[in-house]
Order: sequence, then C-alpha cells, then structure tokens
Amino acid sequence: MQILPRQTQPPTTPIRRRHHPKENGGKGNYRKFRACLRWEFGFTCPFCLVHEADLARVFSEGTAQTAIEHIVPQSADEGLRNTYTNCVYICRFCNTARSNLPVIGQQATLLNPTSTAWGTNFELDNEQLKPLNEDAAYTEQSYDINDPRKKLLKRERMRVYDDHFPLIDKADDILELIDLARQQTDIEAKKLLLDAAESQRLATLHAIADLKTYSIKPCDAPTKCSCDKVELELPEDIASQALSL
Ligand SMILES: [Zn+2]
Ligand SMILES: [Zn+2]
Repeated sequence: MQILPRQTQPPTTPIRRRHHPKENGGKGNYRKFRACLRWEFGFTCPFCLVHEADLARVFSEGTAQTAIEHIVPQSADEGLRNTYTNCVYICRFCNTARSNLPVIGQQATLLNPTSTAWGTNFELDNEQLKPLNEDAAYTEQSYDINDPRKKLLKRERMRVYDDHFPLIDKADDILELIDLARQQTDIEAKKLLLDAAESQRLATLHAIADLKTYSIKPCDAPTKCSCDKVELELPEDIASQALSL
C-alpha cells in the first residue's frame, strides 16, 4: 500500500483543478464540493501541508477537523460562495486562523495554492515552512502556517516513521533467529532465541499497522464525487511523494 512520505514536501507545481462540479443551488451548495475537494487536494491542507491522517490517524472525516475555505470570503462576495474555483480544502486550524482576512492585504496578497506552487514560495526547514517572499510571509501569518500544533503533528509523523522503519528494515533478522534456534541443542538457548524472534515479529507487525494509518488515501476516501465524470486520483505532486509499504 501507499503511505505518506516522512515529510510532505511543498508541491513544485500549483494544484491543478481536475474537478468541475455543478455550481447551481442554494446557499450551502458549496458543501456538495467536499468529495471533489478532498481528492483535488490529496486529503491535504494545501496551506500547512497537514494531511487528514496527521489530524486523526484512523479517519478524520466527520470530526470537523477539515473545512472548505473560500479564497474570497463569503462576507466579501456572496456571489462566489458556490463557485468551485473559489473553494479549497483546508485544515480547521488554517481555516480558523485566517477567518475573513482579505485576499489583498496592506502590503501583500494571499497566495492561492491552485495558481502558484507552494514549493516556489516556501522552503521546508524541519517541520517549519519558511516563506520566501512577501506574499508568502503574508500567507504564512494569515493562516498561521507554522502554528506549534501543526508542527507537533508533523513531528509526530516523523517520530512514527523513525521509530518503525528501522524495525521493518530488520525483519529478516526474525528468520535468522529462527534458523539459529534450530541449530541449538540446548533447550533453554533454543527457547530464548524463539522468544526473541516472536517479540521481533510482533513489534514488526505493530510497526506496519501503525504506519498503515498514514495511508496516502484515507480508508474513508469517497468513491464518488459531484462531477459527472472524473478519475478519483491524487494530485500528481502528492502521489509522487508516496512510499510503498
Ligand atoms: Zn468531482
Ligand atoms: Zn492547514
């Protein structure tokens, strides 16, 4: 299966719109874009790069940890409320941080992840996304992109990977321990080696189960969206960062 990378790198291309759901309807019609947006943005907040699995390891949908962000706020232009290209997927932390701050600030403009590549505006430095220009700095402040809670979630993913991958890499040791046990004539020594093999087998299974919760496609990824015809695929940049488990 495909899991997230140890750290999500800022995409090197803008996120390309592939979904085109119908836009007519009532006041809250934009909520019907949700399945489209989850796939469109690879289940990842395009501002801070936190993934649904970072927010909740089993599933996050239905727990109000992600939202639909209006680039031009509803309070600034009601007419854009149900315009799909004005909507982006976002984590609740980024959504709450920005609130209704205007797209055009006093000295800079908010960056839109569908029109500019995050990788040309931000540099990843450990769990910190460092802005590389004034617009990126305005965006970083508005969405509080380096909120300590987001950094904690990123550190947690790195910790899990750093704890578990070495165990998986040493899985061959289990067979070697069993082989060694077979060669022993002393019963006690044989038992010790087999116990060690069993402990390592259980630890490895536990590591795999834990890493699987970082699936790049959540277990509750929608199987259909509001578009007539579209492939439900991850954005190319996010998909290219996946690790095989
Ligand atoms: Zn769609
Ligand atoms: Zn975010």
